[in-house]
Amino acid sequence: MEKVIEVKNLTKVYGKKTAAFTALKSVSLDIYEGESVAIVGKSGSGKSTLMHLLALLDTPTSGAVKIDGQESTKLSKRQLNKLRNSRFGFVFQQFFMNPKDTVLDNVMLPLKIAGVPRRKRKTMALEALKIVDLASKAKNKATDLSGGQKQRVCIARAIVNNPKIIFADEPTGNLDSATGDKITDLLFELNEKQGVTLIVVTHDEDLAKLCKRIVRISDGQIIADNSVRKDLSKEAHERHEKEAARVRKANEKEGKK
Ligand code: ADP
Ligand code: MG
Repeated sequence: MEKVIEVKNLTKVYGKKTAAFTALKSVSLDIYEGESVAIVGKSGSGKSTLMHLLALLDTPTSGAVKIDGQESTKLSKRQLNKLRNSRFGFVFQQFFMNPKDTVLDNVMLPLKIAGVPRRKRKTMALEALKIVDLASKAKNKATDLSGGQKQRVCIARAIVNNPKIIFADEPTGNLDSATGDKITDLLFELNEKQGVTLIVVTHDEDLAKLCKRIVRISDGQIIADNSVRKDLSKEAHERHEKEAARVRKANEKEGKK
């Protein structure tokens, strides 16, 4: 089974000298293709810090993150952005959207950054909105939606580039329980039906239990992990391998410039 993320001795220190705070203490873990992983722990335990490092949104003080076998510290900023853009989808507790833009524009944004032509962007974004059952709101302003609808738009935006990994940080944190359940269903459907690797940060035990694997963290250290390697279908594996090789090759090319 293929490792999609390999983490070794990851340490994160915020601040300097007397103000220094070690939020993550030499954490090591591997995440396999197609897994659903909950990262749980009390507030302030280091969950978001770990997720930000896994998702290449922040750099570790020491240690390394490998994505598809590529060492993140060896990649340029541009390569990192590209990797993130082509492989990851993000769902956060706060809905980061451009309120003045339409729903469709918000969902198309990652594709725009990735350089997908406009017409294709539109088709892909509408497809993603269909999946979250919001195609009818495509032309609405993002501000005119309810909390649950906004979170669904964020999911549409997270899946629009067919990501291999979805990172969700407290995805249901700001929602009522019925709406939260819908969001949860959507995320697990993507994991089960499309083989998307799901990494969910949460302090909600019910949400965590839905994941096949639970990584518990306390004071910046992993205190429990029921890692079980689950075999994906051969077909999904081959699809993933091909994409990984393509991105690796593109990055090598980029590196030579
Ligand atoms: P969690 O997501 O589990 O609530 P975080 O990863 O956000 O925890 O934070 C872990 C610890 O690191 C907390 O004590 C927090 O105060 C501290 N921390 C997080 N971000 C910063 C930062 N930018 N500067 C200083 N300390 C931080
Ligand atoms: Mg957090």
